[in-house]
Formats: sequence, structure tokens, C-alpha cells
Amino acid sequence: MEKEFDFAIVGGGIMGTSFAYHLLQRGYTVALFDKNYTPIEASVRNFGQVVPSGFGAEWQKYGIASMEIYRSIQKVAQLDLREEGSLYIASNEEEIRLIEELNTINQKNQYDSIIFDASDIAKLYPEIKHSYAKAALHFPLEIQVNPKTTVERMLHWLKEKKQLHYFNNVTIQDIEVSSSKIHLTDNFKNEYTAKKVMICSGHDFKTLFPEIFLNAGLKTVKLQMLSGIANNTKIKGSILTGWSIRRYECFQECPSYQQIIAQEDPNSFQRLHGIHILAKQEADGTIILGDSHHYASHGPNAAGTDYEDIINVNDFMIAEAKKILNIDHFELRNTWAGIYSQCTDKPILVENISDDITVVTGIGGKGMTASLGYTQDFLNKLNF
Ligand SMILES: Cc1cc2nc3c(=O)[nH]c(=O)nc-3n(C[C@H](O)[C@H](O)[C@H](O)COP(=O)(O)OP(=O)(O)OC[C@H]3O[C@@H](n4cnc5c(N)ncnc54)[C@H](O)[C@@H]3O)c2cc1C
Repeated sequence: MEKEFDFAIVGGGIMGTSFAYHLLQRGYTVALFDKNYTPIEASVRNFGQVVPSGFGAEWQKYGIASMEIYRSIQKVAQLDLREEGSLYIASNEEEIRLIEELNTINQKNQYDSIIFDASDIAKLYPEIKHSYAKAALHFPLEIQVNPKTTVERMLHWLKEKKQLHYFNNVTIQDIEVSSSKIHLTDNFKNEYTAKKVMICSGHDFKTLFPEIFLNAGLKTVKLQMLSGIANNTKIKGSILTGWSIRRYECFQECPSYQQIIAQEDPNSFQRLHGIHILAKQEADGTIILGDSHHYASHGPNAAGTDYEDIINVNDFMIAEAKKILNIDHFELRNTWAGIYSQCTDKPILVENISDDITVVTGIGGKGMTASLGYTQDFLNKLNF
């Protein structure tokens, strides 16, 4: 007889994998489907910076919960997790004002952060250029995961130790309800049944329920990144710089934010390409630099696919990174783009197709930080 799963999850990125993790921990039977052989979308193309500091209060809570869950998974599934903190570097008076204001907000919210002055930075972060760093805000408890391995290792562990039924290389093309069961059909015409379905399909708006996505206020965002090697430079933790201070949600709560942003040139190269400079180093010494943001609605056809654009953006990001970090001889080894979906008017899309079929996507740039905590809270609220 055909097996009926308690839950079927479509999509094996960090969102679908996080749902699978919590549901299996709670004793449900779970099938997870991904159209690729191994995960290849945003969940493996990102920085792996786990930075609850970047969010407003509600999502910061999910990020903090995620860090605890990552730490517990690390003990059993070797995630290459690192505990090196995050550093937001201010390069001028305006950015210093914003980090000081955020530090005050954090004290009220009891979220650990410390202001470093230029001499602290010189002592603790010799990889950062003295000429750029005027002050910095440090979050000592924040972590880094390896974007290339995290989701795959979690899936492997869930399969081997928690009886996850993992169907890779399988696209779910149709989902129907009949005789109070949910039937899923894949691209080989195989059928599966489940009591409940979660659709965590990232930026794929076209395969399942396209009409829902069309009117859901979603956009796709293409981010360009690159990696390479530089001298013997060692970079600690997640490095975020002045343009991140001017862009991240958490700083929007600062009293001076609106006035400072209003003075920016909207036509600068960095604003037109949504660039802010972030950096992180992997265990093998590779330095990841990014990123740009190009926006488009209804599908992965985001702007800037010309080779010339890619080169211009990369050249710009490397030149800017050299002003911030001691990476004077940077050797480019790889460049790539990742796409995520994001809501225009809310932090995430949760759409009930029926009582038992729910779409959860559009988490934007928060996914590697917040998914584990968000999905835990989501299931708690439904008493699963
Ligand atoms: C360049 C870049 C840098 C980033 N840096 C960070 C960072 O440092 N920190 C952070 O917190 N976040 C970061 N993010 C954001 C984060 O990566 C995303 O929020 C997150 O990966 C989204 O996860 P997801 O599971 O929703 O989507 P995805 O990773 O896109 O996964 C969706 C999955 O669904 C599968 N799928 C879709 N349709 C079907 C179907 N019909 N059948 C079967 N399978 C299907 C796809 O194959 C895919 O694997 C970054 C993103 C990018 C692109």
C-alpha cells in the first residue's frame, strides 16, 4: 500500500530543511522533495553570515533562536559552524552616530553589542584598514555557517538519523486534494500522499500555484558575489561595512537614520546596483566578497545579466573592498549570482492554499539567519 506521510515539504533550501528538522524532532513522518540533485539555489549561494543584529526586534528573536538550533545541530551533524561574531565598521561621523544609536537600542533589548574605537579595531582586526575604520559595532555572540555545506549536511543527517524521506532530483508538478488526502505528482508521474503540505519553493513561482504567486506582492532579487584569495590575510567573523549600516533594517530604528539617508546620492554606482560591501573567510582561506542587489518582479529575470555588468560590479566591489580590508593582492577565483524571493509589503509570504496546504517563501535576505527559528515558532503556534 502507498505510504502516506504526515508532512510533504516541497523545496530543500534552508526553509524547507528547517521545517523538516522541527517536524522530525517532533515525531512526524516527513517527505522532502527538491528538483535538484543537491541544493543549488540561494541556500548554498549566500555568505553564511548568521546576523540577527541586522533585523528589527521580531526577526531578531527568530535569528537568536536559530543560532541556538544551529549550535545543537553542529554537535551531531558537523556544520562547519564558527563562533567569531559580527562587526559593522563605521567609516565616517554619520555611520558612527548610527552604530552608537543602535548600541543604545540593543542595551534596551538586552542584545549583546560593544562599540570599538579605531585603536580597538587596529588591535583586534589587523585585517581592517586603519584609514577606513573610524569605529565599529561588534556582536560577539553571532555565528557563521558554511553556505556550501550547511543545508546538504543537515539533509544528510536528517536522512541518516531521523528517517527523513528525501526525494532529490524530483520536481513536484501538481498537488491535488481528493478523498481528504493530498496527492502530489512529480515530473516522472510518481504519486505521493500526505496529510499536510508545506511549499517552500524559494523563487520558483511558476511550477505550483502560479496564480497565487502572481498576486502575492513578491519580487525576485539577484545578488552578485565573488570569491578569491589575498596575501595571508585572515578575516575574523562576519564583516559588514558602512553601506550595510546605511541599508540594514535594524538601523532604520535609529533616530538619525532618515536624515542621514536623505543626504545620499540616489544615482551613485553603489545605489544603482544596490551594492554594500560584506566579507567573510571560509576555513580554507577563501575570502567571499559581495554583494549587489538587482530587483525584478515575477520570475528570475532580474536585471544585470550582461557580462559587462557582471565585470563592472565585480571590479567595483573588489576596489571598494581594497579600501576597507588589507587585501591589496586579491586574486579572483569565482563569481556567481544567487536569487531569493522577497515580499514587497511584509517580511515573509505565508499563503494557505487550503487548510492543509501552505506556501511559505519570500523570506528575502534573512533566510540563513532566521529560518530555523521562524519555522520553530510557526509550528509551535499551530501546536504541531
Ligand atoms: C548571494 C546571497 C547572499 C546571502 N547571504 C545571506 C547571509 O549571509 N545570511 C542570511 O541570513 N541570508 C542570506 N541570504 C538569503 C538566504 O540565502 C535566503 O533567504 C534563503 O536561502 C532562502 O531559502 P529558501 O529555502 O526559501 O529558498 P531556496 O534556497 O531558493 O530553496 C528553494 C528550493 O525549492 C526547490 N523547489 C522549488 N520548486 C520546486 C518544486 N516544484 N519541486 C521540487 N523542488 C522545488 C528549489 O530547487 C530550491 O532548492 C543570501 C542570499 C543570496 C542570494
